[in-house]
Amino acid sequence: MELSPEDIRKDKNKVVPEEFIVYIHFEDFCQVCSPYETEIEDLCDQCKAVIGEATLDEWRTVKQIMENHDFPGAEIGHQLLPNVDP
Ligand SMILES: [Zn+2]
Repeated sequence: MELSPEDIRKDKNKVVPEEFIVYIHFEDFCQVCSPYETEIEDLCDQCKAVIGEATLDEWRTVKQIMENHDFPGAEIGHQLLPNVDP
């Protein structure tokens, strides 16, 4: 949320908090379960341990939000944002 494009657009003098952390998980992070393309629950035990239960819970929450989100098509998108170039 602290780095969302919308947030930065609205606040041009945005300052990222000092305690802000970015975790980068590389595609070849694990040769056992390929976490880049593996479902959270199918990650190997080593990946789950390294990533940590707290982060995995955040991922589960994001996944649940994305699965329950109703993505608008072009027609509804135009109704929602009528003055935006399609
Ligand atoms: Zn793994």
